[in-house]
Amino acid sequence: MMEENIAAIATPAGKGGVAIIRISGKSPLALAEKMFTPVGRVKVTDFEPYRMYPGRIDGGTFEDYGLCVYFKGPQSYTGEDIVEFQCHGGESIARGILKQTFRLGAKPAGKGEFTKRAFLNGKLSLASCEGVADMINGESEAEVKAGYLLYSEKLTNKVRGLQDELKTLLAGIDVSVDYPEEDIEEQHIAELKVSLEELVAKIEQITATYAVGKKIKSGVTVAICGKPNTGKSSLLNRLLGYDKAIVSNVAGTTRDAVEGVLEIEGQRFNLYDTAGVRESGDFIENIGIERAENIIRSADVAVFVVDMAQGGMDEEDKRVLEMVQDKPLITVVNKVDLSEGIALDGADVYTSALTGEGMEKLKQLLYQRGFGARTEDAAFLIEQRHFDALERAKASLQKAIHACAVEPLDLIGIDVKEGWDALGEITGETATEAIITEIFEKFCVGK
Ligand code: GDP
Repeated sequence: MMEENIAAIATPAGKGGVAIIRISGKSPLALAEKMFTPVGRVKVTDFEPYRMYPGRIDGGTFEDYGLCVYFKGPQSYTGEDIVEFQCHGGESIARGILKQTFRLGAKPAGKGEFTKRAFLNGKLSLASCEGVADMINGESEAEVKAGYLLYSEKLTNKVRGLQDELKTLLAGIDVSVDYPEEDIEEQHIAELKVSLEELVAKIEQITATYAVGKKIKSGVTVAICGKPNTGKSSLLNRLLGYDKAIVSNVAGTTRDAVEGVLEIEGQRFNLYDTAGVRESGDFIENIGIERAENIIRSADVAVFVVDMAQGGMDEEDKRVLEMVQDKPLITVVNKVDLSEGIALDGADVYTSALTGEGMEKLKQLLYQRGFGARTEDAAFLIEQRHFDALERAKASLQKAIHACAVEPLDLIGIDVKEGWDALGEITGETATEAIITEIFEKFCVGK
């Protein structure tokens, strides 16, 4: 599909080494010819694809010396012809050159329009485009890695496999409906049911990865709990390496949950310091306690802090422990600098927020409890949209399985087709205009 030329600055606004202006459409090379003067005798219209040519770039009221490269469609990001200029990385330089492309007829590209064209031209599936956005917007290395797997069509290939199987089943149903034979139909339905059950199991295998994928995307939520003055805020500060939480030796001063973000082995952890959980007549402190309870409820991992300088666990410690013991839990015995030689049953790590002792071990434990043993290169479901579509596909197939006992083949076929449609929302085949628009809204201009 050859569309009008669109242009945008592909690099972020600001000063830098280079900036890139990208033009995609039916005739970017013809446009480039009018604003690029290559060094030597070569003509722009004779440019070999995928090769950098040095020369002068026209910025309207000024010139810059830079590079030009031509990507020949369909072997290009968008599937169309693309030209890119690399100029010096100044905002006014890039903007001037972009304006010149507009003067020569290019239209300003909308958010994610290059990637959208790649999707519409069949270069990328919809899920792959979302992988690109995940990589660019990714706030941790783990998210970038997961986004890259999505971008490289790992999920799409799996989903297409499922769709193919469903298509085969649908074809079989069509044949049986067109040429009905009583005794064969019964056997056909029995076989169909088995196939559908296998497909549901395969979908469940994929949706099961969302538990980890969600953590990759949003971070592992960690609640640091313990009675007042055990050193929660101090430990949080130590982990983060700066003074974020308020540290005080007056019991009950950490009134609010304080969030800090920590990266362990490329993975984001959101740390919450909870107010001391205890009976109190103080209204503000009670609000803090309620919030603490909410945080504990939604946490993936709880860090339970005990102050060993007091000699052991008391009733108040035990009350906190009760609140968190059904979670993946790390029991931290803090203030070892004041309590050397004292041990506690069930302790996972001995720390001192004062000296930093035990911090590396604590980080390792956070990672282990957050993820358990996981295979590094597996593809994870990281988008809620994909999870929802798979759940809907599963529900349709389960309806079909149920229908196998009571309905004729053609009605079962309707549910199977619904399952196929739901899967198509991931790859993009059945995604509505509204879904597509929403996805590309997440992009920046120039991608
Ligand atoms: P929180 O109420 O549990 O958040 O406790 P804080 O972090 O506010 O600490 C309470 C007091 O204990 C403060 O005076 C800290 O300086 C002190 N403290 C915290 N951790 C340690 C530690 O590992 N060793 C020593 N000696 N003091 C600590």
